[in-house]
Amino acid sequence: MTTRPRPILDAVNAAYWEAAREHRFVLIRCDACGKYVHPPRPACPRCQSESLVPTEVSGNGTVYSFGVMHRGGNPGFDEKVPFAVVVVELDEEERLLTVGNMPDCPVDDIEIGMRVTVTFEDLDDEITLPQWTRAS
Ligand code: ZN
Repeated sequence: MTTRPRPILDAVNAAYWEAAREHRFVLIRCDACGKYVHPPRPACPRCQSESLVPTEVSGNGTVYSFGVMHRGGNPGFDEKVPFAVVVVELDEEERLLTVGNMPDCPVDDIEIGMRVTVTFEDLDDEITLPQWTRAS
């Protein structure tokens, strides 16, 4: 039996995953140019600064794009089809994108431009996934 793939925490992404475990949404922000760096990287792709600071963000955004998966069966996953993979543009910055699911929203209700907010799915005691839900 294959187990679900897990993120491997390292010096670059640990702040993101450790905050998620505490149900806080934290991204890395460049201290030199002020832009967010997501997914986490060792240096800012815009100005090459390595002065990156974990920064708690609002967790509010808009569905930028999405796809609906009608087939599961990926090794280690127990997908309930259909399910959506959403790309969310966060309020903090234009084109600051992140990817997740909307597990509590029927796929037919998801629309580009829909307002969403972060929620957290605890996989176990160590890993929590930031996910998305319709903003209230
Ligand atoms: Zn920068």
